[in-house]
Amino acid sequence: MKLLIVEDEALLRHHLYSRLSELGHVVDAQGDAEEALYRIGEYHHDLAIIDLGLPGMSGLDLIRQLRSIGHTLPVLILTARGNWQDKVEGLAAGADDYLVKPFQFEELEARLNALLRRASGFTQASVSAGALRLDLNRKQALVDEQSLGLTAYEYRILEYLMLHHQQVVSKERLMEQLYADDEERDANVIEVLVGRLRRKLESAAGMRPIETVRGQGYLFTERCR
Ligand code: CA
Repeated sequence: MKLLIVEDEALLRHHLYSRLSELGHVVDAQGDAEEALYRIGEYHHDLAIIDLGLPGMSGLDLIRQLRSIGHTLPVLILTARGNWQDKVEGLAAGADDYLVKPFQFEELEARLNALLRRASGFTQASVSAGALRLDLNRKQALVDEQSLGLTAYEYRILEYLMLHHQQVVSKERLMEQLYADDEERDANVIEVLVGRLRRKLESAAGMRPIETVRGQGYLFTERCR
């Protein structure tokens, strides 16, 4: 998934950037709210992690602005310990969950996975279509409980398509799952990855769930639960 981090403490920002990247997310890490607001307007993100104590525009104002323009992006706020008013104000401003600093990375990971699932309409850590099952926590695709042997990039594409099943997903959107905004992109990569996914799904499960919608993108046609 594509995550936006807004955190002014450089050490924590870098730490989150590298841990979340290791988990297979594409991370856009920013130090101030104004830049974050600009990037939210320009690019797509699947979730934002926003520190409330920021220099200049505060995290609270950033969330209020987002919600006032009708942005539904899931938001997890980071607040300082003991400042319960911050949590209440943050949630009232439109944040979806909060975490108190200092926190264990594992807790951040669990909360963010839960928010991402809920944003896609799933409540469990597992998404299935027929014999195919994704374990969202372990980032594995299984057919009859046997690993499908996907690469990290193949998994990211399949997960995104399944979480957005029965919707057309553009190549652009899939590319955002693989590359940061300032990285060099190659649209052919998506075709290659989708081709490999199709072959693996067909040979392991006899499934052909990924349809090409000409000029628009791809559609995962099976219903996912
Ligand atoms: Ca701060």
